[in-house]
Amino acid sequence: MSGTKYIFFTGGVVSSVGKGVTAAATGRLLKERGFKVAIQKLDPYINVDPGTMSPYQHGEVYVLDDGAECDLDLGHYERFIDIRLNKACNATTGQVYAEVIARERRGDYLGGTIQVIPHITNEIKRRIALVAESTQADFVLVEVGGTVGDIEGQPFLEAIRQLRSDLGRENTLYVHVTWLPLIGANGELKTKPTQHSVRELRSIGITPDMIIARSDSEVDDDLLAKIALFCDVEKRAVIPLPTVPVLYEVPLILEEAGVADYIIQRLGLASRPKPDWTEWIDLVRRVEAPKPTVKIALVGKYVELHDAYMSVAEALKHAGIHAGVEVEISWVLSTDLEKGKDLEEIRDADGILVPGGFGSRGIEGKITAIHHARKRSVPFLGLCLGMQLMVVEFAREVLADENVNSTEFEPRTIHPVIDLMPDQKSITGLGGTMRLGLYPCQIQPDTHSAAAYGQPLIQERHRHRYEFNNAYREKLTAAGLIIAGQSPDGKLVEIVEMYGHPFMVACQFHPEFLSRPNQPHPLFSAFVHAVILHAGVHVSD
Ligand code: GLN
Repeated sequence: MSGTKYIFFTGGVVSSVGKGVTAAATGRLLKERGFKVAIQKLDPYINVDPGTMSPYQHGEVYVLDDGAECDLDLGHYERFIDIRLNKACNATTGQVYAEVIARERRGDYLGGTIQVIPHITNEIKRRIALVAESTQADFVLVEVGGTVGDIEGQPFLEAIRQLRSDLGRENTLYVHVTWLPLIGANGELKTKPTQHSVRELRSIGITPDMIIARSDSEVDDDLLAKIALFCDVEKRAVIPLPTVPVLYEVPLILEEAGVADYIIQRLGLASRPKPDWTEWIDLVRRVEAPKPTVKIALVGKYVELHDAYMSVAEALKHAGIHAGVEVEISWVLSTDLEKGKDLEEIRDADGILVPGGFGSRGIEGKITAIHHARKRSVPFLGLCLGMQLMVVEFAREVLADENVNSTEFEPRTIHPVIDLMPDQKSITGLGGTMRLGLYPCQIQPDTHSAAAYGQPLIQERHRHRYEFNNAYREKLTAAGLIIAGQSPDGKLVEIVEMYGHPFMVACQFHPEFLSRPNQPHPLFSAFVHAVILHAGVHVSD
C-alpha cells in the first residue's frame, strides 16, 4: 500500500530476549502518536499454524477474532498496542510453502522452475503486503521469528531485504534486537555477540538502522558508543533495554530513549508531539505498589511451562492490578491431584481456575478441584474445558453416576453431557477445524455474568470442538445449574453458573484473549473480586 511505512524486527545472539515485546511496545509508541499501526509475526517453522503444536513446544495457541490460531506473540501485540489483529498478521513457512505448492499444482507458474528466490520470497512479500491492505495501517511492524543465522529464517530475511529496494529507504526501517551477555566475576557486559550477529545480518544485505540492546543490567554510554561504531549505526539509534520487573515499563523506556521520534524522523514524517503517558505510568505504579496477595490455583496439565497459559496469567494479573491485589498463581498439575498430591494447594487457594485444554490426561484431577470449589464455596472460574468439566462434575452428582463424561474422554459414556457438535462429527483433520474465533453470546439477566458484563449481548473468542449437550439442559438446570449465556438462537450454551454458590462461573469461550492491562476482562475482574471477598483481604483504594 502506498504511504505505508514498514519496520522490520530481527533478533540476534539468542532467542527469547523479548523481541516480540519490543516490537509491540514500539507499536504502542506509534499508536499513541495517532498513527494506525498493524503488526505481523513471521514464523520460520514449517507447521502451517501452531494450532496442532503441543503447548510444551510452543506455549499457548493464541486465537484472533477471525479464528486464526497463532503464535503467542500476537497476544503481546494485542495487549500492548490494544488492537485487534487478523489472520494476515501471522505467517509461517508452512503457509508460504503450502500456497506456492498449491499454485504450482494448479499450473499457475506455467511450467517454470519453482525456487526460494523469487517464488517463496514473493509469497512472503505478498503476505506482508496483505497486512497493509487488510488494515490500511500507516505503520506495519514485522517481526521475524528466531534469530539471524537460523537456516529456516533465511527466506524471510531475504524477503525483507528485497523490500528495501522495492519500497525505498524512506519507507523501510530495520531494527535488530540483540542480547548483551554478562561475563566474568566482575559482571562485564559483552558486545561481541552483537557485533557478530550484525555482521551476519550485513552479509545477507541488511544493515540495521537501529539496535535494541537487551541486557540484564544497565548499559553505559561507552558501550553504546562501541556498538554504534562497530555496527555502523548512529549512536542515538543504539537503545539500551535492561530487563525490567514490570513488562509494561518497556514502552516508557523506549519512549524515554527517543525510539519513536527517531523512527518518525528517519522515515521522513513530520514530528508529532510526545504523547501523554499518564495512564501507563499509573499502570506501572499500580503494579509496583505494595498490595495484599490473593492466591489462585490454576489447575492445568501443562503448568510446568507457564507460557502455555500466557493469556490466562496476564488476564489474572490485569484484574489484580485494577482490584488492588497481587494475584499469586499457584500452578497445580492436574495429574498430581489425581495421585493425591498437591491437594493442600487446592485447599489453601482463595480461588480456583481451570483453563482450556485437550485430551484425557489430568481430567479427573481437574474435576477434583472443581468438586472442592463447589462444595467449599471457593470462587471458581472455568474456561472452555474448565466449563465442560464443571458441567461433568455437577452432572455426576445430579445423575448419581460417576461415569458421566464428555465424549472427548469417554466416547461410549451413557451420559454424554458434553458432546461433539453435529457439524464436527464428520470432520477428520485436526488443523483449523474447530469452532474458532468470535461468536455472539446473549447474557441472562440477574446472573454474575450479567453484573460483570453490564450488557446483554457480547462477543467472545472460541477454540473448541465439544459443546454442552442440550439433552441434559432441563435436568441440570432443575438441580441448580444456571445457563447464564447462550448463542442468540438459544442452541449453544456459552456460560454456566452455579445457583447458591458465591461465584462459580464458567464459559465455553476464552475471555483471556480480550483482556488488556488498562482494561481487565469483566469476567476476570468479577472472579478476582469474589476471590478478594472469600479471602477476606482488605483492599485500599
Ligand atoms: N477439548 C475441548 C474441546 O475441544 C476444550 C477445548 C479448550 O479448552 N480450548 O471442546
